[in-house]
Order: sequence, then C-alpha cells, then structure tokens
Amino acid sequence: MSEVDESGQSAAGQGDRRVWFLPDEAATEAAGRALIALLPRGAVLFLHGDLGAGKTTLVRGLLRGLGYADSVKSPTYTIIETHDLGFGMLYHLDLYRISDPAEIDFLGIEELYGEGLLTCIEWPQRGAGHLPVPDAEVWLSVDGTGRRLELKVDARRALADPLRNAG
Ligand code: ADP
Ligand code: MG
Repeated sequence: MSEVDESGQSAAGQGDRRVWFLPDEAATEAAGRALIALLPRGAVLFLHGDLGAGKTTLVRGLLRGLGYADSVKSPTYTIIETHDLGFGMLYHLDLYRISDPAEIDFLGIEELYGEGLLTCIEWPQRGAGHLPVPDAEVWLSVDGTGRRLELKVDARRALADPLRNAG
C-alpha cells in the first residue's frame, strides 16, 4: 500500500482526502486495518465502488485488524451482517439488492447507528435519503491489476474518541 497523494483539505471541517494504490488483495486488507486508526468510535463508513472493486475485502481487513477471527461473509444476500467483536458490534451492510431506498426503513438499522462500534455500508447510494451522514467515505476502483482507494475522513475525531480503545 503506497500513499500517492495527500491533497489536503476538502470542505472545511470535512476532513482530509488521501489516495492509496493497492497492488493486491493483501494491500486492500492492510488498508482496512490502517483505517482503524483514522475512524472515531461509532463511525458510519460509506464504501463506494463497482462490483469487485474490493469493498468487502476492505471490511474483512478492518475486522481482522479489530481482532475478529471468524469467517467474513459478504452481506450481498442478507443485506446486513453483524459481527460481535467482544468490545462492540461491527455492522456490515450491502445495499446492492435494495430496489427502493425506503426499504432501508424496514431493516431497523437506524437503531444501530451510534450504538455500534462501526457501521460499514456498501452501495450507500442505493439508500440515498435514508442513511445518516457518513463519518468517512472510501471510493475503490480498478487500477491496472490492482485497486485505487480514495479516502475522505476527519482523523482528528479518531484522536478524540478512538475506535480501537472503545470498551
Ligand atoms: P466488492 O465488495 O467491492 O464487490 P470484493 O471485496 O468482493 O469486492 O473483491 C472482489 C475481488 O477483488 C476479490 O476477488 C478480491 O480478491 C479482489 N481484490 C481486492 N482487492 C484487490 C487489489 N488491491 N488488487 C487486486 N484484486 C483485489
Ligand atoms: Mg461486496
């Protein structure tokens, strides 16, 4: 994983943007682990990118970095997978199969935000208008045989209330 650009601030208070090149699957998992230090407790993370871009791989890296050893299933069919980390819950959503954003309201997920340690949402655009404002966003795209990751996060919030030391 190499940092190719750190292009400074986006909108004031909205955090900084980073771009990483991820040459292989292991690098995507490493990026997920690296994200842990940048996210505040209770964060909602949006994961953008086409099918096969590496969104679920990134969440697996996050889970491994948080000590989760069980197998990590993609929530493509279940919409939501819940992972008990022992010191908090990680909710992993994939809204690809949602045909109407209003379906989100029937999942009962609004009760999860803030309660969980982290909520990762693939295909958030399919839930437009029915999801909270994200604390961080990732855009993944195919780049040669690897992937390009763009990240928008306000890492100062992670310093004030870190995800990893939640307990
Ligand atoms: P998504 O959830 O975005 O649909 P997945 O995480 O399921 O994508 O990954 C799809 C495929 O991409 C998997 O076969 C995975 O091994 C591969 N992959 C993930 N990251 C990379 C990478 N940096 N370079 C090459 N292949 C990758
Ligand atoms: Mg996926």
